[in-house]
Amino acid sequence: MWILQIARLGHPVLRHPAAPVTADELASPEIQKLIDGMILTMRECAGVGLAANQIHVSKQIAVIESKKNPRYPDAPDIPLTVLINPRLTSLSVKKEVSWEGCLSIPDLRGAVPRAESLVCEGLDRQGRPLLIEAKGFKARVIQHECDHLAGKVYLDRMEDFSTLTHLAEFGRFWNK
Ligand SMILES: [Zn+2]
Repeated sequence: MWILQIARLGHPVLRHPAAPVTADELASPEIQKLIDGMILTMRECAGVGLAANQIHVSKQIAVIESKKNPRYPDAPDIPLTVLINPRLTSLSVKKEVSWEGCLSIPDLRGAVPRAESLVCEGLDRQGRPLLIEAKGFKARVIQHECDHLAGKVYLDRMEDFSTLTHLAEFGRFWNK
């Protein structure tokens, strides 16, 4: 298994909506191997989520997981979840503002408003229907990854750019 190279902000693949995965594609060894590579890469880079277009594949695949993560030490645990063709079908009107970073936008953090809770529908890696109800941090991670698959990044959701901060200054001035 290998670590996949992550596309950084400015690469056009991050700005194109990803294509849905067909049942045949999902069952193929290539896509299954790709999903394994995404999980490994997310863990190696200490991410809590990774979308396929972040590794230069414009397909609607995302992986999320959070377990004692050094980049997000205060984050609650999220079990490993593979999202195929995810759709956010219900969002709370109320928004919550919290910090986000992104492996494609290294060394920065910004305060991003997101829906507090949602329902996410899609498929798991075996092609079985998946329905996830999430709130708080997990809902935030799912929205961040679904945005990637739609060609958006968290900067597009920010309302106050004065909160955009380098990680070195985040620890000093913001994360208290
Ligand atoms: Zn990201």
